[in-house]
Amino acid sequence: MDDKPVLTVNVVTPDGSVYENTTTLAICKTTVGEVGIMPNHIPMLASLAIDEVRVKVAEDQFDEIAISGGFLEFSDNVLSIVASAAERKEDIDTIRAKRAKERAEKRIAQAKQTQDIDELKRAEVSLRRAMNRLNISSHK
Ligand code: ATP
Repeated sequence: MDDKPVLTVNVVTPDGSVYENTTTLAICKTTVGEVGIMPNHIPMLASLAIDEVRVKVAEDQFDEIAISGGFLEFSDNVLSIVASAAERKEDIDTIRAKRAKERAEKRIAQAKQTQDIDELKRAEVSLRRAMNRLNISSHK
C-alpha cells in the first residue's frame, strides 16, 4: 500500500468548486513568487497572481488550472484556493480567450489615447487573464 502523505487541494470560485484532488505537490504562483506546497508544509496565507496552479497527479504529470487572481490558505494538509475565476486547462475555451485578448488590446489602445488611467489598468488586467488562459491551454 502506498502510504505517502498527501494534501487535499480545493479550488473554489464564486461560481462554485472548480477542482478537488489529493496530491503530494501543488505549485502555486503567488504575487511574491512561486511556492511549492508539500504535505506538512507550514500553514500559510498568500495572494495568488493571475497565473497557474499545478497539481502533481503522477510522476512528471500535473493538472493545470488557470487562476485569475485570488488567495490560498494552507493548513492541516488542506490547500484552499479561492479565486475570482479559475478554469482547468481542458475547460479553457481558447476562441473565447483570443476574443477577450483582442478586446482588451483595443481597450488598452483607446485608454492610452484618451489617457484614461483607470480604464487602462482594468484593460491590462483583462489582457493578463486572457493571456494566462491562452498560455496554459497551449501547454502540451
Ligand atoms: P470574457 O470577456 O471572455 O468573459 P473574462 O476574463 O472577462 O473573459 P471572467 O470574468 O474572468 O471572464 O470569468 C467569467 C466566467 O467565465 C468565469 O466563470 C470564468 O471561469 C469563465 N471564463 C472566462 N473566460 C473563459 C475561457 N476562455 N474559457 C473558459 N471559461 C472562461
